[in-house]
Amino acid sequence: MTTPARLGHSIAGTRVDDPGAPTTEVFDPSTGSVTALVEAADAAVVDRAVAAARAAFPSWRDASLSRRSQVLFAFRELLAAQRDELAAVVSAEHGKVIDDAIGEVQRGLEVVEFACGVPQLLKGAYSENVSSQVDSYTLRQPVGVVAGITPFNFPAMVPMWMFPLAIACGNTFILKPSEKDPSVALRLAELWSEAGLPDGVFNVVNGGRDAVDALLRHPDVAAVSFVGSTPVARHVHTTVSDRGARVQALGGAKNHMVVLPDADIDTAADAAVSAAYGSAGERCMAISALVGVGDVGDRLVPAIADRIARLRIGPGDDADNEMGPLITAAHRDRIARHLGAAGAAGATVVVDGRDLPVPAGHEDGFWLGPSLLDHVSTDMDVYTEELFGPVLVVLRVPSFDAAIELVNANPYGNGTAVFTDDGGAARRFQHEIEVGMVGINVPIPVPMAYHSFGGWKDSLFGDSHVHGMDGVHFYTRAKVVTSRWRDPAERSRVDLGFPTQS
Ligand code: NAD
Repeated sequence: MTTPARLGHSIAGTRVDDPGAPTTEVFDPSTGSVTALVEAADAAVVDRAVAAARAAFPSWRDASLSRRSQVLFAFRELLAAQRDELAAVVSAEHGKVIDDAIGEVQRGLEVVEFACGVPQLLKGAYSENVSSQVDSYTLRQPVGVVAGITPFNFPAMVPMWMFPLAIACGNTFILKPSEKDPSVALRLAELWSEAGLPDGVFNVVNGGRDAVDALLRHPDVAAVSFVGSTPVARHVHTTVSDRGARVQALGGAKNHMVVLPDADIDTAADAAVSAAYGSAGERCMAISALVGVGDVGDRLVPAIADRIARLRIGPGDDADNEMGPLITAAHRDRIARHLGAAGAAGATVVVDGRDLPVPAGHEDGFWLGPSLLDHVSTDMDVYTEELFGPVLVVLRVPSFDAAIELVNANPYGNGTAVFTDDGGAARRFQHEIEVGMVGINVPIPVPMAYHSFGGWKDSLFGDSHVHGMDGVHFYTRAKVVTSRWRDPAERSRVDLGFPTQS
């Protein structure tokens, strides 16, 4: 048996390891074996990273826009060249299948491409002659040291929702990745150095709650981007805004797919299976609740069950597999308990993932098969809780009105989708639904890099979504300059009146 690697931090372009620091285990979820031990940063390590980022800020802030975009272009080239290797690192620690991991790196890379256009993104506005001989213009300036705290489910993409734009805008950055799959973050730090990013502009601090709390409370951290579960998002938002710093905290989700009676059932079944079980349901935009209007459930549930039976489930590094294991044994066991309780509470268990035959040689892996529960009601735990696994619950409602009411009554508002051939119904859905990202015949409506990503209600605390122009605004502060250059021909005078446009 090989000794698990020990993973420390990356501060000011250098790997920092403390042999005496406490560690947590990183697993290969397909076998359950421990592949690495990741160090947990304490306040002193966080202090050191913040000091490095703070020291690097003045010169990076003053680097020309073309210099910044040159570094971003170089980083983009390295990412593109190593996309498959990075995806393999993601897959090995997360468990997702390799194609899915490649897709995740690709979506992160697209944010880097968006950030490469930073000279265009930071162009301000100029108004000549707002008053006689007075001009006015707006600037956007970086905020300083930014911290990004990210979840386990997209260890490459979610950090890349944040740091490419933060860095492009002239900030320095400290990433605290999930302790469950930290390796790819350290690899990204190496790529930044190779791309020519000055030391200290991008840093990685590993750890859990203590590292997070030290970052949230650090007076030199000017802004925090967080993505994770709702209780932690709420804590992050409260802690950071209490000290007057800037914060965006994206939380959990329960994403509904509403299927109207006129929808094509095969299309809807394909979409539901793809969106519910892709990445074993460990996606914040996964469809976890299907709302069938009228008789849809009778037709759709058998079509979904039929497709589930044909899914190929196994280790992520086998390109033939479509779905891998869950992230930890504890997570798998929690969802399995919910499945048991749902049956007892009156749901119809159409497909029970606990019956999955475990792939040979992987008996200790964190496996749970795709599960389908029908006749679920809104008071059952499998509906009220975010399960974050391969479980699709089906709720049946009599009308479109009832479907909209049901979705809007849910506390989460991350993503949703409607399946219909009726343009008027789709338009009504997009107008009335209280959710941040809406798909019309698109089950996972993840916005592209040049739009912004974010939910409503308990899925986002703060005002800004991530990437797109919201990202540019979050990582910069606006300044408005009003200037008058003295006309030698004119005489100045004292005027105690309030300035007006004359
Ligand atoms: P999590 O909330 O457990 O962890 C997220 C981050 O917070 C990690 O870096 C973790 O170390 C840290 N953390 C955990 N508990 C903490 C605590 N008590 N105090 C301070 N920091 C703490 O989330 P997860 O399990 O890693 O990821 C899954 C969750 O993330 C799901 O709820 C999912 O919906 C959500 N998510 C949301 C989005 C979105 O865009 N809204 C995207 C991806 C994931």
